[in-house]
Amino acid sequence: MINKESNMAIEYVKEGGVSKYKVLDFHAHMGNLVNAYMPFGSPEKMLYLMDRSNVRCALFSSHHDLTVGNRFILDEIEICKKHPGRFKLYMTVFSRHCDFKEDIKIFEKYREHFVGFKLHPSYSGIMPDHSLNRPYLEYADAHGLLVLGHTWSGLETPYENVLKKYKNLKLIGGHCFYDNWRFTANLALNYENFYPELTAVLFKRGALEEMVSICGANKILFGCDMPWFSYTYYIGALLSAEITDQQREDILWNNGYVLLKDQVRDL
Ligand SMILES: [Zn+2]
Repeated sequence: MINKESNMAIEYVKEGGVSKYKVLDFHAHMGNLVNAYMPFGSPEKMLYLMDRSNVRCALFSSHHDLTVGNRFILDEIEICKKHPGRFKLYMTVFSRHCDFKEDIKIFEKYREHFVGFKLHPSYSGIMPDHSLNRPYLEYADAHGLLVLGHTWSGLETPYENVLKKYKNLKLIGGHCFYDNWRFTANLALNYENFYPELTAVLFKRGALEEMVSICGANKILFGCDMPWFSYTYYIGALLSAEITDQQREDILWNNGYVLLKDQVRDL
């Protein structure tokens, strides 16, 4: 067993991969991806995985929204309504195919089901700092919303440009500019409104420790691209990392709770 000194790790192994610690998931998806079948992509199956790992709420953008725009967003809002407090939506900014006015009408009408926006330059082909994203980023900045960005190495400059311009939105760096950990940690140090998120990061042993050594653990958020990857593995990898149990609890829940508590009342 790894981390024999960690009470959390000992308990996790004893219980067969079940953690009593609450989890907030900042990076999930829902539904099938174009023609690919996602065995755990339905809301019910996602809830099954969430319940097994004590994940209280998953913040998601659907595969539909990422690939064809927001034409199914009302269905997703219905899913959020049906499971109060369990799912919250990032509205996807599908850049060149977006209608900002229509999107914001929906966003405001169903405000309690949204936490902010999702940028995915690898799907949309539009860089984060492109003028097509501007109305959404300005809106997010005016309202202090979350913006989850798909970040990967090569996308450092366009995302830093967003941070230079917008000081009030909260930019979550999904994948931590894989595998530019040092840059990510320094961004978290230098910009108050930047938060590293762990999807894909925990595949690499030592990556989390490297970031924590630079920026501490108080801004790092948990996520794993569920249902692509499993909570059991990711939580296990977090428990195997060479950080303190307090830092693990902060990453799993406390850091995220601080970000969400003012806008998500049903956590
Ligand atoms: Zn993702």
